[in-house]
Amino acid sequence: MTAQKTLGVAVIGTGRMGADHVRRLDEVIAGARVAAVVDIDAGRAKAVAERVDGCSAYTDAAAAMDDEGVDAVLIASPGPAHEAALLQALARDLPVLCEKPLTPDAASALRVVEAEARLGHRRVQVGFMRRYDPEYERLKTLLDEGAFGRTLMLHCVHRNAGTPPGFTSQMTINDSVVHEADAARWLLGQEITAVRVLRPTPSGRAPAGLDDPQLVLFETAGGALVDVEIFVNCGFGYQVRCEAVGEHGTARIGDAHGLCVNAAGRWGGEIAQDYVERFRDAYDREVRAWVDATRRGETTGPSAWDGYAAAAVCEAGVRAQATGERTPVGLAERPALYR
Ligand code: NAD
Repeated sequence: MTAQKTLGVAVIGTGRMGADHVRRLDEVIAGARVAAVVDIDAGRAKAVAERVDGCSAYTDAAAAMDDEGVDAVLIASPGPAHEAALLQALARDLPVLCEKPLTPDAASALRVVEAEARLGHRRVQVGFMRRYDPEYERLKTLLDEGAFGRTLMLHCVHRNAGTPPGFTSQMTINDSVVHEADAARWLLGQEITAVRVLRPTPSGRAPAGLDDPQLVLFETAGGALVDVEIFVNCGFGYQVRCEAVGEHGTARIGDAHGLCVNAAGRWGGEIAQDYVERFRDAYDREVRAWVDATRRGETTGPSAWDGYAAAAVCEAGVRAQATGERTPVGLAERPALYR
């Protein structure tokens, strides 16, 4: 692919995230165009395609990948559909940006890692967009520079205003804490080795059967501890915070000090209501980085191995939820491609 050629992207899944990525590729990102969209809901795919010049609608991912205008694939279908689409894309040696989770469990994620390793070069970037959030990037730079010595602990907070019907306690780990699993591995440069989950008496706002909030504790290979408050029905908004504690100092991100208003004897600001608002810039920067790297013929960002490792942490987390026990994370040997 030459740097001059516009990247033709097939977007698979045109729900909330997929439709937003179509808009982003069409209106925000230079150097790419949405050549095709895919959804098992034919009406939804057609409605999204009609908003974009020269975009074809499909109900079958493989057919879209074989469209001559398609050079790369953005997967935004639900997690259980990811493995099939990833393997089809890898079989065609197509570059992929895959929304998190890579796949919903460690065994299927490992199959994707092995398929890419067999290909012999990276083609998959996983949509862990926090790595593209300017605040997270600054924290990562600070920690890598050793500004505070060794990082001893991370204190993380992840709160959602509310959950859709059917949201389960396991989903708090697989859909929500998966972001902290990746962010912690990335910030610390270490694998997570064990998980514990503690549960207070649930909030009165929690739907019946949902443990909310929960406290998740990660141990890492380098001896750091990471605690995560996950509270998915806090009612007041979407908040993601992370405080790193080092030997000589601490640093915290996520306080959302954007606009501060002073009026009527009080000061204050607004709290984002969802991830689309809080991480808008991060999604733009993530997709831009993917398009730019792909046009250069490179694959950068969170890898299939990162997606697999996060899936393995979540699997241990769901077991820890059920048993109340400290649960080790089992990881396969890392293929040379990801070292
Ligand atoms: P959604 O339910 O709104 O949309 C999913 C769409 O995919 C639907 O239109 C559905 O019909 C379609 N679909 C289902 N199976 C399909 C298949 N086999 N092939 C093609 N299309 C199929 O879901 P969403 O909230 O947009 O989530 C999509 C993905 O994005 C998930 O992996 C989710 O975890 C991820 N996500 C990431 C973030 C983030 O912050 N990075 C936030 C939300 C969701």
